[in-house]
Parts: sequence; structure tokens; C-alpha cells
Amino acid sequence: MSKEFDVLIIGGGPAGAMTGIELCRKGYSTCIIDKEIFPRPKLCGGLLTQKSTDLLARYCPGLDPLEFVVEQAQTVDFYFQDKKVNRFTTREVYYFTERTIFDHLLVQYYLKLGGRMIQQVALRPGDIDFGKNTVTAGTGKIYYKYLVGADGCNGVLSRAAKIKRHDFLCLEACFPRDPHNEKEFRIYFGLANMGYGWYFPKKEHYCVGMGGEESGKAISDKARRYFREALNSQSAQVEDFAVKGALLPSGRKLNTRRLPKNSLLVGDAAGFADPVTGEGIYYAMLSGVQAAGAIDASAKNKKRNVLKRYNKSVWPIRKDIRAARFWKRILYYPPILRAFMKHIQTHTNFVRFYLKKVIATGEFNYRNFLRVYLKNRAFSPFAHDPDLTP
Ligand SMILES: Cc1cc2nc3c(=O)[nH]c(=O)nc-3n(C[C@H](O)[C@H](O)[C@H](O)COP(=O)(O)OP(=O)(O)OC[C@H]3O[C@@H](n4cnc5c(N)ncnc54)[C@H](O)[C@@H]3O)c2cc1C
Repeated sequence: MSKEFDVLIIGGGPAGAMTGIELCRKGYSTCIIDKEIFPRPKLCGGLLTQKSTDLLARYCPGLDPLEFVVEQAQTVDFYFQDKKVNRFTTREVYYFTERTIFDHLLVQYYLKLGGRMIQQVALRPGDIDFGKNTVTAGTGKIYYKYLVGADGCNGVLSRAAKIKRHDFLCLEACFPRDPHNEKEFRIYFGLANMGYGWYFPKKEHYCVGMGGEESGKAISDKARRYFREALNSQSAQVEDFAVKGALLPSGRKLNTRRLPKNSLLVGDAAGFADPVTGEGIYYAMLSGVQAAGAIDASAKNKKRNVLKRYNKSVWPIRKDIRAARFWKRILYYPPILRAFMKHIQTHTNFVRFYLKKVIATGEFNYRNFLRVYLKNRAFSPFAHDPDLTP
């Protein structure tokens, strides 16, 4: 049995679903292939920033945040190792979701727009024939005009094109929570090299995790110590809970020139995640939208070559991630990190500015935020900026 689609998308996470949603809306026949059956679990802190919810409101109108937000917070506590450094209360809200729910809703949205989906088929690199533009999925061949790899870190399309990856390991566990207590979330610096620990409130549990640019063994040892500390106040052992690991892109550029010109990568598969915060859901959805736009423009010009156009449209994302990597290397350098932790005890406006304008809204990017901050500080101290005073 063979089928033909304008666009074949490997992976039904936020990147694949958003690519499919936008393409269906533009009238293309699409098919998503995923190795899992949705709803499926996905290891993730599930923090959604305002720019993510804004993007959803724009591209998925009618999708009610109440359906996927399980908790929200406006207070974040920063820790350096086990010591609390400062607490910040922000005007903007940070949302927390469960990826089982969130990804399923996006896939349902895509299906309602008329997209097709094949579930529980794990593709291998040998299933993709770039020369014939086919993918063998289970028993049948699928022909495509354009191929999108939305299959996450270590995705099958990158492997088929022999693209070298630079991902690192994160570990996560769920610990019990009294839902009436503590709505704040916590960030722990100084525990992992080039990374941090997080402590996010969900409905009935805390999602506790850690990631960093370290070997698998080093990060597992550090994460277990951190989990033990996190459980300190509870009469439970880390061993009572499942600790799971998953990869996150480091932000280093991938060599996509190895891909055939009618194929492209989105989301984690493309290496799109904020190297400082690890935020990837926003970039997954945004690159999905960009991919659909690039495919649409190429198809309208009757061209199969989409890679060049797509690379151009995601160039701002790449540049921003490159700048974030630069900042990360400076910020996480141990003596600078220690000095920075001291600094944020007394100079709170910088953190407020960064949280609001870079992380939450994305109004400024990693390339220009420091320049804007210093310029504004020189001319109108943020102490008098009502926008930055909670
Ligand atoms: C521990 C951890 C915590 C995180 N916390 C946050 C957070 O709080 N906020 C945030 O914004 N980001 C977070 N991230 C990053 C975020 O999870 C990713 O950036 C995001 O999931 C990327 O979406 P995606 O669609 O590109 O890939 P994915 O969500 O990974 O989806 C890929 C899909 O492809 C399918 N697939 C894979 N291989 C195959 C195959 N061979 N055949 C068929 N299907 C296949 C998978 O089943 C999956 O459904 C975190 C990541 C980790 C690891």
C-alpha cells in the first residue's frame, strides 16, 4: 500500500504538530508519523512562557489554556547551591503544563484541521530513501514532496543525513506536593557545569530536574545528590521515585547542509533550544511555523528546494541561540556566576528586566538586551520604571 502527501512530518511533538497545523491551514496534504500513541509521556519541565502562550493564541485560536495549564506562578526563587539568593515576583505569569496533555491537544488540533497521522511506527534511518522521496512506514511506502524532521534530539532524519549532534543529558523526577503549598518555582545555580536545577510546581507533584554540559555519569551523580536535598523535608527516598533522563540541544549549530534540499529540521531536531534556560517548546512551535511558511513559499514557486529559504527564515533564531550560548559561557563560568549571584541580591532590576523582556515576552533577544538595559538604566533608572516594578 503506498500513499502520497505534500509534506511528511516525522514526529508529533510541538514542532511537528505546529508544522502540520500551519500546513493544513494553507491547504497542503500532510502526514505525521510518530513512534508513540498519543497521549504519550514526554520528559519535560513543562514551563511555558508568555511568548509561547501568545504564539499559541495566534496560531491555534480556540485552544483554551485552561485545558493544558496545570499550574501557574509569578514568583521565582533563585538559589546558589543550597542557599536562597533572592525571590522575584513578576507581573508576567509563568505557566506549567504536562506534556502528555499539551502535545495531545496540539495533535488533536492538527487532526481536526484535516491532517493525517500514523502512530506507533518508529522509523529507522534506512526507512528514508532521499533519492526516491519515500519513507517506508510499517508495511507501506509513503511518497513526499517535502520531508520535515520534527523527531527531537537524536532524530531519525538527522541520523539518516549523518548530521553530528551536540545534545546533553537532563534528569527529572516527580516528587509529591501539597497543592495548597508553595506556588513559586525555583532555579538552582552552581550545581551542574553549564546548567542548572529546576523545581517546578505541577498539580499534584513537583517536577524536579537538572541538566548541564557534563558526562552522563557526572550529571546523574549530581542530580541524585540534588534530588536527595530536594526530598530532605519529606520522609521519602530518591529510590522510591522514577528518575528519568532525556536529551536537550546544547544550542551548537548543526550542519544542515547534509540534508537533501527538500528536507528540513524543526524544534529539538534542529538544535533549537535556549542554551541558558533550556526553553525549547517555544522554539519548537516557532520553527514549525517558519517551516510551514518556507514550504508554502517554495511550493507556490513550484520549487522543491526549501532548505535555503527555511534556513534564511530561522536565521534570527539561530543568531539568538548563538548569542545565548555566548552569554551562557560567560555567566556559568564559576567566578562570574558567584559574583552574579551576589549582584542579584542587591541589583534586582537587572533580573526583572531579563525575566520579563527576554524570557517571558521575548521582546528583546540575547543580542540586544544588555545594550537596551544599560541604555535605559543610564537614561531612566528602572527603579522608576512602573513596568519593571512588581
Ligand atoms: C528534562 C527536560 C526538561 C525540559 N523542560 C522544558 C521546559 O520546562 N520548558 C520548555 O520550553 N522546554 C523544556 N525542555 C525542552 C523541550 O522538551 C523540547 O525543546 C521540546 O519537547 C521540543 O519539541 P519537539 O517537537 O522538537 O520534539 P519532541 O517533543 O521531543 O517530539 C519529538 C517526537 O518525535 C517522535 N519520534 C522520535 N523519534 C522517532 C522515530 N524514529 N520515528 C517516529 N517518531 C519519532 C517522538 O515520539 C516525539 O513524539 C525540556 C527538555 C528536557 C529534556
